[in-house]
Amino acid sequence: SLLHRASFFTSAARLDQLPEAGAPEVCFVGRSNSGKSSAINVLTNQKRLAFSSKTPGRTRLINMFSLPDPLEPEAALGFLVDLPGYGYAAVDKKAREEWAEVLGDYLRSRSSLAGVVLMIDIRRGVTDLDRRLAHWLAPTGRPVLALLTKADKLPYGQRIKAVFAVKKELAEIGALYAVPFSATHRIGLEEAALHIENWISP
Ligand code: GDP
Repeated sequence: SLLHRASFFTSAARLDQLPEAGAPEVCFVGRSNSGKSSAINVLTNQKRLAFSSKTPGRTRLINMFSLPDPLEPEAALGFLVDLPGYGYAAVDKKAREEWAEVLGDYLRSRSSLAGVVLMIDIRRGVTDLDRRLAHWLAPTGRPVLALLTKADKLPYGQRIKAVFAVKKELAEIGALYAVPFSATHRIGLEEAALHIENWISP
């Protein structure tokens, strides 16, 4: 899989520190503790490519991973962009607002953004911050893949109900796909990888 060849590219604390928009990017967004790092690690088949929000250090940064072009390994075919998790309780209001601005700006203005992977804890469902994000995303017309994480914690029937509930809640996003996902039980892995790879290299 293309995603398995991902490697660390660069970190940025602010948007203006990101490299100029180039090859297609797929970004990962979600609340802290939604399972975003676990999802990136299992999708790329690497143990510690992305760091958990519990890990001090690289977590407040935007981390970019490059996907090498199989025909020309020095060039990037695309990038995965890990945006810091939001809604972390210990962060004060000002830091939260600043972050919302960065996230909103990135989603609205990044021209190379090909698709968005939105992590939603399957038992928690869509939160106010997720709705705010959806509100920024809808007018951009970018496709969104909602991964309903930790799906292993619910029986099959309830997973399907959760998919319908998320689709209903986020109806304002045009191209919205929602799949139950589990990093630990490898649920939805192939479907998620197909979407992401197709956005990078249609
Ligand atoms: P992040 O803060 O969004 O990057 O979330 P993490 O990937 O660090 O995961 C947050 C917590 O959820 C950790 O304790 C993980 O072990 C747990 N977790 C992540 N993915 C899964 C999953 O697929 N199934 C279960 N049961 N737990 C998970």
